[in-house]
Amino acid sequence: MTRILTVVLLFVAPWLQAQNGQANQWCGTKDGKVAWLTEFQANPNVFSRSVDTLYIPVTIHLVGTSIGGGYFGVRNLLDAFCTLNQDFEPTNIQFYLEGAINYIPNTTYYNHNFDTGAEMMVAYNVPNTINCYISSSPGENLCGYSAYNLGVALAMSCIQPDDHTWSHELGHFLSLPHPFYGWEGYDHDYSTPAPEQINGNLVERVDGKNCDIAGDGFCDTPPDYLNYRWSCNNVGQSILSQTDPDGVKLKSDGSLIMSYSSDECSYRFSDEQIAAMQANALTDKAEFLYDQTKRFPIYSGPVVPVFPGEGDTISNYKAIPFVWEPMPEATHYIVEYSINPLFTSAVFQFTTVGNTWISSSMIKNKTYYWRLRPYNAQYTCEAYSDIHSFTTGDQLSAIEEDFIDGLSGMTILPNPIRSGDALTIILSSERVMELNTQLITPSGDVVSSMHWQIGQGRTIHQLELPELPSGFYILKMGNATGQMVRKVLITH
Ligand SMILES: [Zn+2]
Repeated sequence: MTRILTVVLLFVAPWLQAQNGQANQWCGTKDGKVAWLTEFQANPNVFSRSVDTLYIPVTIHLVGTSIGGGYFGVRNLLDAFCTLNQDFEPTNIQFYLEGAINYIPNTTYYNHNFDTGAEMMVAYNVPNTINCYISSSPGENLCGYSAYNLGVALAMSCIQPDDHTWSHELGHFLSLPHPFYGWEGYDHDYSTPAPEQINGNLVERVDGKNCDIAGDGFCDTPPDYLNYRWSCNNVGQSILSQTDPDGVKLKSDGSLIMSYSSDECSYRFSDEQIAAMQANALTDKAEFLYDQTKRFPIYSGPVVPVFPGEGDTISNYKAIPFVWEPMPEATHYIVEYSINPLFTSAVFQFTTVGNTWISSSMIKNKTYYWRLRPYNAQYTCEAYSDIHSFTTGDQLSAIEEDFIDGLSGMTILPNPIRSGDALTIILSSERVMELNTQLITPSGDVVSSMHWQIGQGRTIHQLELPELPSGFYILKMGNATGQMVRKVLITH
């Protein structure tokens, strides 16, 4: 079983991101008020609320150009997903990364529109998960959009760590309209009172009398008529005053993630919005709730390297395994290494499942620095670890003794091997011979010893390993004519 998910190689500083272009970028959701929400708001009390956290699976699709460039980086993805779950923490809804990241190299989808976006979603959607497509542009001047029960498209420039675009679009996907519902695309002179209705939708008034049937239909989101990006004042409201149909002045509430206030203003969903999203998950998205496993935050401590040890010189630079003690609750790691101790350039980055990674792209006689970023499907906020270093040597083989008369070949599989698994040893021999086989710890203790009768030709042998701590072990085989020694890396 391969334990490696994806490989991403970065030759430039990955934090050189496009500038946040959100000022002129809007949400392109065209769902209006979905039928499910109309039904919910007619009788919210018959819908249940969850006291337990609801865990909802999200499938990530990273869209690049047809030649495979321009993808949103995995570290940026983890940062954005961290913000998403933090925004949703008060809602009792948490998202988890389902399956591996799906990379889609397609320039048409990289800068798409509604039609090509829908085509992409139909082609790649994983059922019963929220499918999120991250590309350069999901439409001209758009930060993203949600297509109800189809998928969510996001511009990579709008899901930086301090942005709430992803939370906004998932709010839509869980049935929420904008608080300024009805005003989308409407050209209004804000110095005049709002009309009674816009496009058949009642305009919400300040006195609250029509709050359940006007605007977004939620009574704890105050009237808001602003359908463009706006910045808030020092108390989190719009700077622009608006006038309701009764002539009463109002300012919009910038704290709501579903509004068009800028990202430094918005941070929350209202109680009624939360009730609607929970009910939507429990009814319309009930099939999404197939895995309610509670996951736990990563234990953030220093990395304990197993190999290479701090400051080691590794002669066999062509294939250097990285092994570290597993971090509690981490299932995945980003591994980064560089000859630059500040990691500001020439950073090699890999994503791996489990606590090992083998690099075959290092060069000789260099000092390398490496660090980890642990995560699991739900917790992606952990920072990079402390940094460790080692030096490469200039020999391709570090085997000291390598001769047994008549034995022409020895292959060991797999290597690294998980503790408790069976090691397969393939031997090629010119004649029948006796062989003593020993597995020895780094400190010289023999943990396994066998005597084998080897037949002529190619023979396959199995060595059952006991449960052993991670580290390098020596596999020693020999008889009166000589011995062969191999390093075996045992991991967990
Ligand atoms: Zn929106």
